[in-house]
Amino acid sequence: MSKTILEQVLEANQNFVSEWAEVQGQHKAPVSKIPSKELAIFTCMDTRLVDFLEGAMGIQRGEAKVIKNAGNTVASPFGVVIRSLVMAIYALGVKEIIVIGHLDCGMATATAEGLKEKMIARGIAPEAIKLVEGALTQWVDTFHHPIENVAGVVSAIRENPLIPKDVPVHGLIFDPDNGRIDLIVNGYDSIGK
Ligand code: ZN
Repeated sequence: MSKTILEQVLEANQNFVSEWAEVQGQHKAPVSKIPSKELAIFTCMDTRLVDFLEGAMGIQRGEAKVIKNAGNTVASPFGVVIRSLVMAIYALGVKEIIVIGHLDCGMATATAEGLKEKMIARGIAPEAIKLVEGALTQWVDTFHHPIENVAGVVSAIRENPLIPKDVPVHGLIFDPDNGRIDLIVNGYDSIGK
């Protein structure tokens, strides 16, 4: 019988920990939770970005906070993304934010209607769907293109009353096939740097 994902992960971890112990033995200094580049990156949960995006940005372990969700979207003025940024800025020394979306984002083709149908098919109570219907439409059906989304999210973060005005918020777009990054918004333009 093939191993479950959970078994694979736990087994991989045993090997990882013993190899890591050897490496740690050579380089004793632990990595700080304070990001050395004073940077927060907000990006998508896309599979193709795993073990790829950071390298493409020249970011290494310990250098940046990374926040991810579906389509790097900001749903509300004090939702989880803004909360994470608030924590990053006020508790963890972040002074700069990069929003980086990617081409071929799954959010661009998803629809609220399609999601609702699939939820019904999986036995989700219609009353439960009714409760989030408005939010679902507002979130999924307003995502038309990843570049447009990045620009909108940069504005939403910059205009959020809890984000200090001296924090530059940049917008980038990533190609998940070849690793190329293009600049959409230069956050320094808005803070006069
Ligand atoms: Zn995506």
